[in-house]
Amino acid sequence: MAGEPRSDCLFCKIVSGEVPATVVRESETTLAFRDINPQAPVHVLVIPKAHHADAAALAAAAPEAAADVLREAGAVAEQEKTDGTGYRIVFNTGAGAGQTVFHAHAHVLGGRGLEWPPG
Ligand code: IMP
Repeated sequence: MAGEPRSDCLFCKIVSGEVPATVVRESETTLAFRDINPQAPVHVLVIPKAHHADAAALAAAAPEAAADVLREAGAVAEQEKTDGTGYRIVFNTGAGAGQTVFHAHAHVLGGRGLEWPPG
């Protein structure tokens, strides 16, 4: 069922504490932790605690939680002091776009110049 934890989902295991992560923020509905393979000096993932496969599915099933993820992504950027250089919030959606973990997550990237268009 939408939102229920999945035993085969890495990020659900991080939410439950079964898999360790370096948590930088937590709210009632979200968790933010450092990406294990950072692509920038600041690279934090913000996830809904509930399981939804991607950002669109999250927004459709739980729009308030989707808004929470965006708000927390902004708070992470502020907390990590990306001000002045800017930051990027990315939702890779679908394998062809680079999504490898099918539990919705926002990448918050910053701390260096970011090129456009992305690869
Ligand atoms: P995606 O490729 O957009 O799905 O992003 C998944 C992200 O999860 C990648 O940037 C990975 O480096 C990151 N990742 C995978 N396993 C872990 C972990 O155990 N802890 C933190 N980040 C992880």
